[in-house]
Amino acid sequence: MAKQNLKEYLQDPFLNTLFQEIRQAGAVKSILVDITHTCNIRCEGCYFFAEDMDKMKAPKDEHVFDDFISQEKARGTNFVTVTGGEPSLKLPRLKKLHDNFNTTVVTNGLRKIPVEGFEDLPIGLSVWGDHETDTRLRGGGKIEVFKKALKNYKDDPRVMLYYTTTPGNAHEIESVVEQGVQNGLPILFSYYGDISNKGGDIDHNRGFGEVRSNIDKMIEKYPHMIMTSSYLSKVISTGMLYNEKWGYENCCSVSVDNDKNAEKLKNGKPFNPHFNAYNPDLASTRRCCIGEERDCDNCYDLWAHYSWIMLNMRKHLGSKQEFTNWLTSMYSFYLINRLVDFEKGMTYVAEMNKRIGILTKKELVS
Ligand code: SF4
Ligand code: SF4
Repeated sequence: MAKQNLKEYLQDPFLNTLFQEIRQAGAVKSILVDITHTCNIRCEGCYFFAEDMDKMKAPKDEHVFDDFISQEKARGTNFVTVTGGEPSLKLPRLKKLHDNFNTTVVTNGLRKIPVEGFEDLPIGLSVWGDHETDTRLRGGGKIEVFKKALKNYKDDPRVMLYYTTTPGNAHEIESVVEQGVQNGLPILFSYYGDISNKGGDIDHNRGFGEVRSNIDKMIEKYPHMIMTSSYLSKVISTGMLYNEKWGYENCCSVSVDNDKNAEKLKNGKPFNPHFNAYNPDLASTRRCCIGEERDCDNCYDLWAHYSWIMLNMRKHLGSKQEFTNWLTSMYSFYLINRLVDFEKGMTYVAEMNKRIGILTKKELVS
C-alpha cells in the first residue's frame, strides 16, 4: 500500500523532481564535529559552554586531525556539520574538512570566512534577534554581533541567516527577516531553549505560538527566501510528529559510538546509524549533537528535528499533502547543505512553501 501511495504521489512532476534529485544525491552519512574549544564571544546560555564542552581541548598536533579525517573517510562519512566553539577561528582545519566532505558550518560571523578556498561552503550565520537583543544576548551588551556579521557577509551566496528565535522577541522577526532579505541572505529559523533558566523573554515555557505565526507571515511575504517551512516550524515548536512526542526515546541524532545510547538504540525507533557528535578532542563523542546531559524537554535543535522528520517517511504516506510535507523537508535539508544543485534548488523554494501552505492559518479554520 505504501509503495502504491508513493507511486501515485510521484505522478506530480514537481514532487517527482524533488524526489529524483534527492535520490541522485544519495544517502547522507553525517557526523558533527567541533574543531575548536574556543569562541570569541559568550552567548547567554550557549549549549557548548553550558556543559563545559570546552574542557575537551582540540588536539594541537595536526596529524591527529588528519588521522581523524582519514578515519571518517574510511567509515564512509560524507557530510560534516561544524558548530561550536567558533569554527572561523580555525580556518585551516575547516578547509581540510571542506576539501574532504560535504561540510556545513555555523558561525557567529564576527570573523569572515574568506571566499578563497571556501567558495561553495554552506555557512549558517547565527543571529538571536534584532540588533539590541542580539547584542545583549550574544555580545555581552557591547559587541554588535549581528551588525558586524551582516557587514561581513552582505550578499554572500554561501550564507543563510540561522535565526534562533525566543518567545518574548517574536515581534523582532519581521525586522530581522527584512534585513536578511535586504542583504541577500535566505533565512532559516531555529528555536531557543532556555537552558540556563534565565526566564523572561527567552523562556521557552512561554511557548512559540506567536513566533510560529510571525514566521508564517514571513513565509507569505518572502516565500522564496524562508527555508523553514510552516511544517518544519510546527514540528519543532510543538515537539509533535503525528502521535510521537519529541524527546530522547524518539530522537534520531544520538552518537552511535557513545555507550550512553546503547539501550536507547535498541528501542526500535528509527535513528541515524552513522551519526556521531565528536567533541573538540576528536577522540570522544557526546550523547548527541547538543550535549551530554542536555534536558531533551528544552531541545529545539534544528538538525535533530530534520532527522526526525526525514527518517519517518512512512508516517507521511497517508496522503499527498503529508508526503509533500515530508519531501519538502527532506529536500530543504539537502538544499541548505548543498547536497543538490543549489542554484536550481533555490528556484523551488517558493513553490515548496506554497505546497505546504500556512499551517497556523489552517489550524485557525479547522
Ligand atoms: S557563538 Fe556559538 S559557540 Fe560561541 S558562545 Fe555563541 S553559541 Fe556558543
Ligand atoms: S537533547 Fe535533543 S538532540 Fe540531544 S538527545 Fe535530547 S532530543 Fe536528542
